[in-house]
Amino acid sequence: MSVTNASLPPGYRGRLAPTPSGYLHLGHVRTFWVAAQRCRENDGVLILRNEDLDRERCKEQFAEAAMEDLRWLGCHWQEGPDIDGPAGPYNQSERMDFYLSIWRALHERGAIYPSPHSRRDVRRALSAPHEEDKEPLFPLELRPPERTGCDETEPGSMNWRFRVPDGKTISFTDGRAGLVELEAGKDFGDFLVWRKDGYPSYEMAVTADDHGMGITEVVRGEDLLTSTARQLLIYQQLGWIPPAFYHCPLVRDSRGAPLSKRYQSSRTGPLREIGCPPEQLFAKWEGDSGLELIEQD
Ligand code: GLU
Repeated sequence: MSVTNASLPPGYRGRLAPTPSGYLHLGHVRTFWVAAQRCRENDGVLILRNEDLDRERCKEQFAEAAMEDLRWLGCHWQEGPDIDGPAGPYNQSERMDFYLSIWRALHERGAIYPSPHSRRDVRRALSAPHEEDKEPLFPLELRPPERTGCDETEPGSMNWRFRVPDGKTISFTDGRAGLVELEAGKDFGDFLVWRKDGYPSYEMAVTADDHGMGITEVVRGEDLLTSTARQLLIYQQLGWIPPAFYHCPLVRDSRGAPLSKRYQSSRTGPLREIGCPPEQLFAKWEGDSGLELIEQD
């Protein structure tokens, strides 16, 4: 598998990766603002990637609104779906051939397996209860034995999961949080790389794109720390050098809960209409505490 597109210029490359399934909330834009700041401080190139793989929930109208909100916030990107660039296309929905090539590479290495089990099968196989918001560990008894043959050339209408190396510690030094250590098989289990609806999972698409677009630092919310550990396994499996990571604290609502997708979907207009100028938001965010009670639920 080729390493990052050789024609991309060297130097810091950062990214903003909105999912256009609703209007952005303050949690998203704070992370994007930090990402844009870090890119600017490093004289980098900023990439806007439209993560529109969920064909049911993603809408053109939300993608447009996200770009408008980000411009309003003063984030300027040098590559993106509106201006193109050397690492395009920048809409994930246009990158399916690329994702298929990554699926094949993982499949050839025996790193993934087809998984016909429904969510109900998974719940039934779990003996211990799991935390509401936490994805349950995929039960080992539903994992097939190590692969012997390798005939498939297409994922077909099947879920595919990554076989995690049980007991292995995945560690990385986060730009803000410092050393992070998570154990495969304990903190997270076999995770989806391909969905039976014919699209790659978030974990796979984002890893493939961060690598393929030559991203050197990923800035994201700290709710994705476990995802980062999963993604590092994909990097390792494919022999790719991972980017640096910087996980931002989450913006919380007046009850201390992180602003969520639920909140996002209840928003009925773009963020630039909240009546608060960007400078006021920046002033609140400078402290980097993440506990700014600025948006009421
Ligand atoms: N599209 C993802 C989101 O909006 C990006 C997460 C990431 O930074 O990888 O949550």
